[in-house]
Amino acid sequence: MATVYSHSRLSCFENCPKQFHYRYVEKRRVDTESIEAFVGKRVHEVLERLNHFLQRGMVPSLTKVVARYRALWDDAFDAERVRIVRRENPAESYRELGERCLSNHYRRNYPFDRDETLGIEENVSFALDPDGRYRMRGIVDRVVRAADGALEIHDYKTGRWVPSQEKLDVDRQLALYQMGLEDRHGSEGPVRLVWHYLLRNQIRVSSRTRDQLDALRRDTTALIDRIEAERDYTPTPSSLCSWCEFNDECPAAKLPASPARQPAPTRAPLQAQPRSGGARREPQASEVHQLALL
Ligand code: SF4
Repeated sequence: MATVYSHSRLSCFENCPKQFHYRYVEKRRVDTESIEAFVGKRVHEVLERLNHFLQRGMVPSLTKVVARYRALWDDAFDAERVRIVRRENPAESYRELGERCLSNHYRRNYPFDRDETLGIEENVSFALDPDGRYRMRGIVDRVVRAADGALEIHDYKTGRWVPSQEKLDVDRQLALYQMGLEDRHGSEGPVRLVWHYLLRNQIRVSSRTRDQLDALRRDTTALIDRIEAERDYTPTPSSLCSWCEFNDECPAAKLPASPARQPAPTRAPLQAQPRSGGARREPQASEVHQLALL
């Protein structure tokens, strides 16, 4: 049975083969997550819920949206489990960043009548090759039919960093989703890739030609071949080691005495809660990367 790859799985290998080995080959379990991943999950959960309301013709108030976010946060937050690398920032400051993401999104898009939602948290699963040897999957935050008829693939980001247009024009994640979605929603009209940088209140748009998609298909299958031939899984330590869930056990960790090993500060005015089982999905590696820059 062929392994099914995701963008985050591919990115993990590119960022650090050793982390890939811990996570996907040895399948080591970790019971902590970074505060950045925690914020991203809560914001995505609220946006998913908001989009379902909007699809049914209901527009909740911003007050209710933020209240839902706070309730989800309080339910899920566990100071023993959520790691804060930048210990000078209390958990409350991260909670406020999530609130700002939601407020920016709400105010920018209200009354949410510019386009039609075709899918929310839509699963995509497809093969890169005719034989089905190279399989991919992913979850699209929102699939949209724009007013001009274009198919749009929307992705929400909660980090502070907004990549350059040049980087987005070669970004892999949404272009892969395009391959998976065109079968379902049609590929005749234009397709736009749309990123919402919620904290910065900015939107970026890109598109791909058929030649670019073909090149991406080739590059991705070549990367999968490389992953499957890998035997050494040589670590590539970097500043991101502080956010790595295997920092404690990895002998190559760049910052072995990182605060990432310590439990989150308890001065945050939040009650410790049991671990939530409601997390929607693992954050994409690129999300974690940019969230680390909060
Ligand atoms: S701690 Fe650093 S070198 Fe080790 S697995 Fe994690 S990212 Fe790789």
